[in-house]
Amino acid sequence: MKKGEFMYEGKAKKIFHTDDPSLVLVEFKDDATAFDGVKKDRLEDKGVLNNRISEIFFSLLEENGIETHFEKKLSEREMLVKALTIIPVEVIVRNIAAGSLSKRLGIPEGTVMKKTVLEFSLKDDELHDPMINHYHIYAMELAAPEEMAEIEKAALRVNEIMVPYLRDKGITLVDFKLEFGRHQGRIVLGDEISPDTCRFWDSSSNEKLDKDRFRRDMGGVVEAYREVLCRLEGGEGSAVES
Ligand code: UDP
Repeated sequence: MKKGEFMYEGKAKKIFHTDDPSLVLVEFKDDATAFDGVKKDRLEDKGVLNNRISEIFFSLLEENGIETHFEKKLSEREMLVKALTIIPVEVIVRNIAAGSLSKRLGIPEGTVMKKTVLEFSLKDDELHDPMINHYHIYAMELAAPEEMAEIEKAALRVNEIMVPYLRDKGITLVDFKLEFGRHQGRIVLGDEISPDTCRFWDSSSNEKLDKDRFRRDMGGVVEAYREVLCRLEGGEGSAVES
């Protein structure tokens, strides 16, 4: 598989063409951004960790019947994925109140939601990813109703797969963001699944093991990501005292 022409650069990843038009190469960068790119930093090895963590989650989901864009890991920072036409709707799944939900609705962070909450945002940095609903999605023709039905079902299933898997590793899955795209007429899960896009809390101490450490200047960001990977790989915890 040959790395082809540069295609696109996002906040945390670069995308390249390959010699197969149905596949693209994702390169995970060390750049960290928050608050729509206002806060920026370089976190050494973050890209390596997110590439490996995403590989683990995508493989887990594939084993459980969710089609993802993941094909294979190519190097420390690179994975080969299916070329998707991304649907510009971010799908947020929430088990526990945190972040923008706590702020918006006044629900204290850490409150367990009685029912899993699904939210949708328009993927548009300039507009600060505004929250939208089905009416907006259909009026703007971002996705068709049948596609949304499939996306919602897949997002809830991803949650059902990830929650117990992570619980076994001493991690509480608080919330996460997914992106879907179209590939050869099918809806496929894309983007990444990592501590950049999920909230992970240590199950016994509730210590944050995700990007909130960066957003909130808590320090130990890469150490927390490494701790997540270590637990996913079945190793002994190191960074977290219990
Ligand atoms: N999230 C993300 N990208 C975004 C917005 C949110 O990956 O552009 C993730 C975020 O890391 C968290 C979940 O989606 O796991 C819910 O985020 P929230 O709406 O609370 O926004 P935040 O507090 O991160 O601004």
